Amino acid sequence: MDWKPIKKSFSNWAVQPNLLDYEQTYQTFSWTDIWRELDELPEGRGLNIAHEAVDRHADGPRRDQLALRWLGRDGTRRDFSYADLKAQSNRFANALRALGVRRSERVFVLAGRIPELYLTALGTLKNVSVFCPLFSAFGPEPIYQRMHLGEAKVLVTTRRQYQQKIADLRKRLPHLQHVLLTDLPEHEADLLSLPKLMAQASPDFTIPPTDPEDMAVLHFTSGTTGMPKGAIHVHKAILTHYMTGKYVLDLHPGDIFWCTADPGWVTGISYGMIAPLAHGVTNIIDEADFDAERWCKILQEQKVTVWYTAPTAIRRLMRLGIEPRKEYDLRHLRLIHSVGEPLNPEAVTWGLQALGLPIHDNWWQTETGGIMIANFAAMEVRPGSMGRPLPGIEAAIVHKVNGSVEVVEEPCVEGDLALKPGWPSMFRGYLNDEERYQKCFKGGWYITGDLARRDADGYFWFIGRADDIIKTSGHMVGPFEVESALLEHRAVAEAGVIGKPDPLIGELVKAFVSLKPGFEPSEELKLDIIGFARQKLGSAVAPKEIEFNQNLPKTRSGKIMRRLLKARELGLAEGDVSTLEGSE
Ligand code: ATP
Ligand code: MG
Repeated sequence: MDWKPIKKSFSNWAVQPNLLDYEQTYQTFSWTDIWRELDELPEGRGLNIAHEAVDRHADGPRRDQLALRWLGRDGTRRDFSYADLKAQSNRFANALRALGVRRSERVFVLAGRIPELYLTALGTLKNVSVFCPLFSAFGPEPIYQRMHLGEAKVLVTTRRQYQQKIADLRKRLPHLQHVLLTDLPEHEADLLSLPKLMAQASPDFTIPPTDPEDMAVLHFTSGTTGMPKGAIHVHKAILTHYMTGKYVLDLHPGDIFWCTADPGWVTGISYGMIAPLAHGVTNIIDEADFDAERWCKILQEQKVTVWYTAPTAIRRLMRLGIEPRKEYDLRHLRLIHSVGEPLNPEAVTWGLQALGLPIHDNWWQTETGGIMIANFAAMEVRPGSMGRPLPGIEAAIVHKVNGSVEVVEEPCVEGDLALKPGWPSMFRGYLNDEERYQKCFKGGWYITGDLARRDADGYFWFIGRADDIIKTSGHMVGPFEVESALLEHRAVAEAGVIGKPDPLIGELVKAFVSLKPGFEPSEELKLDIIGFARQKLGSAVAPKEIEFNQNLPKTRSGKIMRRLLKARELGLAEGDVSTLEGSE
């Protein structure tokens, strides 16, 4: 496919990109320099995420600056300055201390995007306890599994969530000592009132010594390929959050940043909370779910300058056929980023036309804790490419040969995407699964489980998850390539592609396709889409079968679950579906 690189000019920008010369920054980069841009706890007491994100601003000139603006579903709004965030998170840290919750003990939060989630997350980090977010739409069983595995000592949730999901689980969770409800005015039996605890606690708190290797956050993966894993992250991860906030998100003083990811997933914490605060900018949080009109209004009314979202949301906007920049004033918007799934080239260029800006794809995982490969503000965007490795990150394409690992030096060769371990936000383990953790490392590399290739200029191109690769007539086909070609067809809104066992050709490429409004499924349309794909991809790679499906199975974080499409196609067991959208 012939997608032209998108060149950019900054002549109309009020600021200069933080990373102007990629090669030079990459060559001269050192984590020690980044560390120096942070503050550290006074008197050499260590490095704590909440201090870097909140207290250092609250104790300086940004004290009264708007740190967090919360937009309620019903139109209410709550604003928190850096000083407010400091006082409120201190109160929660004191409340934890009063309850006897100690360092490295687990504080789970089960709530939608409400202010209490962010305040308790920051307070938990201050107490050097471990913050564990749970996605608010999980049903009782996925909640139980995660809280049991994580040995939850404290749970913060709402009355409704408690009654619907937790009350019956409590006896099965022997470690759970305290349940704090955000909307309970007085303590009741075995339930504590969070507002009351907060009101009684002091707004002053001294963060205890925090080793950079102290555990900070426990994040569960999205479960796209199987049972979700609990990835352990430490306070030192703040170096990556800050560095990527600087070089990828390109945050500058005065920025208004909005990350649409839910804090139940890693993006919603690393970038929906930590990175923007670490840069002392204003962070927007919207309680409501995706709604095209609401989102465009937020971009306009809040004067968002940097926006971080996901392919699934972009494809939903595309499907509506709207051109937001014609109806809304988006002149403040400077940069748009996307993560979570491959971003089809069609979506990148749609951004250019409909939003007035290209969409910058970047790649990372729950395990990496922060962005590892990205399209940078100052670099040309190559539609369909994830971009180039961050300074301080060594990425390579490797082949596994007889148990060892060979780095592929030639460009454009497919292989495993691997990272050199040692970056600060690297996960330190999968909770209670040392064996699985060890299996991720081979020959001195972290093997990501994704396949990719690198072009001659060092741009990485996603091919697919190792589990999703299709072997057909001697070819290795990545679903992303096929899905992207299908998306160029005028009728196709989304596509999920799998390999279906076939006695003659190994696997047959099968596509599940959802249609844009105004198109009806028909045999004719199927043939038209297959013909279109053949022209783009050649007959070896193009799908041989198409099935229309307006409800492609997705994770709650918006990823197409190809393993489920495949299991359903083949009549196999569906495996863990705790993260399936719409399941309860
Ligand atoms: P599980 O590991 O439980 O199957 P998951 O891998 O989807 O779930 P996450 O850690 O949330 O859980 O997602 C990381 C994965 O998402 C990456 O390994 C990659 O497959 C995919 N991904 C993320 N960003 C991109 C991107 N920009 N392009 C292509 N794929 C991406
Ligand atoms: Mg994964």
